[in-house]
Amino acid sequence: MTNTSGILEGKKILITGVLMESSIAFHAAKLAQEQGAEIILTAWPRPTLTERIAKKLPRPEDVKVLELDVSNDEHLARLEGQVREHLGDRIDGVVHSIGFAPQDALGGNFLNTPFESVSTAMHISAFSLKSLTMAVLPLLSEGGSVVGLTFDAKFAWPQYDWMGPAKAALEATSRYMARDLGKQNIRCNLVSAGPLGSMAAKSIPGFSDLASVWDSRSPLEWDLSDPEPAGRAIVALLSDWFPKTTGEIVHVDGGLHAIGA
Ligand code: NAD
Repeated sequence: MTNTSGILEGKKILITGVLMESSIAFHAAKLAQEQGAEIILTAWPRPTLTERIAKKLPRPEDVKVLELDVSNDEHLARLEGQVREHLGDRIDGVVHSIGFAPQDALGGNFLNTPFESVSTAMHISAFSLKSLTMAVLPLLSEGGSVVGLTFDAKFAWPQYDWMGPAKAALEATSRYMARDLGKQNIRCNLVSAGPLGSMAAKSIPGFSDLASVWDSRSPLEWDLSDPEPAGRAIVALLSDWFPKTTGEIVHVDGGLHAIGA
């Protein structure tokens, strides 16, 4: 270990959502390793793709990739055992960096989206924060930190459609988890990121129109191609530097959430 003063030194973290180098989770994984953490990744739908991307991490030789579809109960049931096999009997943190909505739930089709598509968006993007955490709860026996990613659900955004209510559900789920897991010293927080040009973002028709709002209204200059600030916030929330913070949403959006017009 070269870095002996990292803020995640000695911690073991499960990280979902590494799909490409543009994934927020990739940057969280990179920074987590740089800060001394041992990590394990989960991937869906193609673990081989994530394995390829994981080779670009600072310590690729230490990274195991597990297949995990968060809407698959069998995958969730086997997760604890798989993590135990590679990281031992304890983890200290979980990163939920997962979002998905079917095409007919996005891009201006809000009033016509069928419930089946809304249900998929809710299941994968919101309910899974709870099911993922419960799947590894026995490994968080010494307490820990759960961190998810949202896109500010206080507002109705252009094009975002049913991902908006799904993120609102995620934000509420995080607060209820903070309520119910606090006694076990497990914190649950979200990072509310500004727009970033990942795969998930590119799948939203008209996403660049939505993102262009940041050019004119964000107090801090916003770079659509830089997920590192979000990654830094994730790592900070995983660390011991937010020991009494739970049920919180930390905005990493250049400050746009604070601006009225
Ligand atoms: P991304 O496409 O790199 O990551 C999305 C991840 O969700 C992928 O790794 C994908 O494999 C995973 N996923 C989808 N369905 C899954 C399933 N059934 N089971 C397990 N994993 C599944 O995009 P990203 O921007 O890094 O997104 C990560 C998180 O950040 C998401 O929650 C997203 O909504 C949120 N977010 C993104 C932005 C943005 O502008 N990109 C802004 C705010 C919040």
